[in-house]
Amino acid sequence: MPTWIDSHCHLDAPEFDADRSAVCARACAAGVSLLVIPAVACAHFEAVRALAHATGNAYALGLHPLYVHRQPEDALAQLAIALHTHRDDERLVAVGEIGLDGFVPGLDLATQERFYAAQLALARRVDLPVILHVRRSADALLKHLRRTGVRGGIAHAFNGSAQQAQAFIDLGFKLGFGGAMTFDRALQIRRLAQTLPAEAIVLETDAPDIPPHWLYRTADARARGEDSRNEPAELPRIAETLAALRGWSLDETAAITSANACAALPRLAQWLPA
Ligand code: ZN
Repeated sequence: MPTWIDSHCHLDAPEFDADRSAVCARACAAGVSLLVIPAVACAHFEAVRALAHATGNAYALGLHPLYVHRQPEDALAQLAIALHTHRDDERLVAVGEIGLDGFVPGLDLATQERFYAAQLALARRVDLPVILHVRRSADALLKHLRRTGVRGGIAHAFNGSAQQAQAFIDLGFKLGFGGAMTFDRALQIRRLAQTLPAEAIVLETDAPDIPPHWLYRTADARARGEDSRNEPAELPRIAETLAALRGWSLDETAAITSANACAALPRLAQWLPA
């Protein structure tokens, strides 16, 4: 059976509180043998770290752009302390989830940029790659990356243009593809998944978010209580879309994307089953 890496999974999210161990067991049974759990806020740092250790997975520490407005005054100082305290923890594989969101209305971009730039500087100081949230923000993200010179990482749930994709690749980044790619109408994302260099692609679920088409429910259906929760065990089925687009076997798809995830986040390799 192929071995998969879910390079972006919010396993600490409250959506998994009721059945987290069953979710992990289903992921293992599906061959998803390693998850990267990115933190999104200060209050979650310790829980994310403990969860990665308890479940045999990897984690990242960072402040998500959609959360920076709700963080304590000293959030960046707390992140700096956590990164310095745990920099030799081999399950800490990146600084993330950090970035910019130009999509959600009403968010102050200047605040987001201040947090993003400061976190890139921290990543550089501890010499870790970064996991980036990109939503209508690729050019601004790239501008800061060029300025700071971090050592690459992953642009997760990538949805920019081919030109922006190439700019991330030129800076040493891999691009994350997940449930969005499974929708026939996602023409731009599917074209990128089909045509980018093979070594640039990693797989992710972003669970519990970004459900693939077979889990997708309309807002009305969700209001009626229908569940659209995504989970890491869905990764192999999501990967079937990538395999079909590329003309790869599932084994090839697993081998290529796992190697790419390890290239992006080098500490991951030691946690893959032999
Ligand atoms: Zn995320």
